[in-house]
Amino acid sequence: MKKILAVEKSNAIMPECIFCGKGITVSVLKNIQIHGNLYNVSECVECEIGMTHPFPSDNELAKLYSSGNYRTSTGKRFGIIIEFLIYLGRLKKRGTINKFINPGKILDIGCGRGLFLDVMRRGGWSVIGTELNDETASYAIKTYNITIFSSDIIQQKLPTGSLDAININQVLEHLKNPGKVIEESGRLLRRGGVLIISVPDLRSPQFTIGKENWFLLDLPFHLFHFTEEGLCKLLEKNKFKIKYVKRFSLEISPFGWLQTLLNISGIRFNLLYDLLKCSNLRTEPINLRGVITTLFLLPIYFPLSIILSVLEPLIWKRGGSIEIYAEKN
Ligand SMILES: [Zn+2]
Repeated sequence: MKKILAVEKSNAIMPECIFCGKGITVSVLKNIQIHGNLYNVSECVECEIGMTHPFPSDNELAKLYSSGNYRTSTGKRFGIIIEFLIYLGRLKKRGTINKFINPGKILDIGCGRGLFLDVMRRGGWSVIGTELNDETASYAIKTYNITIFSSDIIQQKLPTGSLDAININQVLEHLKNPGKVIEESGRLLRRGGVLIISVPDLRSPQFTIGKENWFLLDLPFHLFHFTEEGLCKLLEKNKFKIKYVKRFSLEISPFGWLQTLLNISGIRFNLLYDLLKCSNLRTEPINLRGVITTLFLLPIYFPLSIILSVLEPLIWKRGGSIEIYAEKN
């Protein structure tokens, strides 16, 4: 990922905010080059939500999503230790959800391989999911025998008030219509039902330090860039009451810092992530120099990342990734 300095390329036309319809005025990042295309990130002052512009075309997105970066149909995406951490995170999340609501029916929007739904079902929940990637959806159906819709939740037209909880984990920022999905979640949840949304926070110290090198920025996959304030406002506008904001995630926060620090150090972009990922499909080749520098920096950066992840919520009241629990009024 490179930032282009040429002046003539920095005059991006500001789009309209899809949430309030007003013109977006605050430029956050300009001319970030990815796979030969230039992207900008700008924020609506009113809504406090950032937006990628221009949006990548449907063709480009389809090409990027099929490049092995996001999902695999073959189960484990990372090595066994990281997969175990992810599993522990899911168990802990089930415990947190159960503090707010008794087991009932939960929908996971963008459920991926179905790991979270499997954990929830083992805890007495009745589960359904949506997953747009056909291969990933059929993996989840075959492995866990879960009902998964392979289309947009809005098209499903499920009955009003039929759900007790909805989970949207690191998915909302990928959608072209996040406002509509929150509105639909409000319709689907019963009164007192809980919506759990997890997104990266554009106002986190991880972003402030990393800028275009921030691991969780993930251009151009992330079409929207939420802030804690912006997401809370959007939820309140849709008649949700914020119950709890979690600003530390064992699976996301330390690695977010670690990969961001490595990216700032000038090593090939997201090299460690690509090395840990169990996929041979990578957008850039792995270079030996980068691997050696990473190994050299890890003993310093790894503990530093853990310290920063703990300090981020304590001192700055922020999280690289936040998880919001909101109750339907
Ligand atoms: Zn707006």
